[in-house]
Amino acid sequence: MRNLHSNIVTNASDILLDIDGVILDQSFDNLFWQELIPLKLSISKNISLEEAKLEIKTTASKIYGTLPWYELEFWENRYDIDFLSVAAEHSSKINFLPNAEQTLNQLSSLDKRIILLTNCDPRLLNIKAGSVPFMQYVDGCISSVELGVVKEHQGFWSKAFRYFNINPKFSLFADDNLYVVNAAVKAGIENSFQVLEPTSNVNIINEPEAILTIRNIGDLI
Ligand SMILES: [Mg+2]
Repeated sequence: MRNLHSNIVTNASDILLDIDGVILDQSFDNLFWQELIPLKLSISKNISLEEAKLEIKTTASKIYGTLPWYELEFWENRYDIDFLSVAAEHSSKINFLPNAEQTLNQLSSLDKRIILLTNCDPRLLNIKAGSVPFMQYVDGCISSVELGVVKEHQGFWSKAFRYFNINPKFSLFADDNLYVVNAAVKAGIENSFQVLEPTSNVNIINEPEAILTIRNIGDLI
């Protein structure tokens, strides 16, 4: 049986994909922000791990979904921690999501561009790309930190469309963040999919709230 979305994939010229939670296992970001960075902060500030976790969580909750939340520079200035060295030290824990590499390989054999659109800071992305070989399958990649506006905002989409000469009517997009999926639909990418399984942990499943949903990008093939 052909999959439900085969017409959408066939008709698309550009396949636009988020990275974390769509190609890479979101577990690394969760570990990084919820465990590794608090541990580093607790040592540098000489506070308990619980206090450090609360500190990071409180700061994050105030800026969630805005550019500083994604920009390492904001965090580095605030906490004087070498975030990149923490990521590099634990880079062996950065992994593809199940089936993601195989799917990227299959998608890259089609006559379409694959473009990655991410909110991940390019410096952190470099460490991820150096650990997991996803860049070899794609034709382009841009971060909201480079464009100066996050994917949650319309300004990102107009800039990204111009940068890559993307026609939203002939594109499909997949992201695990519902706000971003909704922003992409508003920007004109009708075929925007909410990814429901952002980690390799099958117990973590996002509530399906977008019009189009897939479990993972394997459902596109
Ligand atoms: Mg994501």
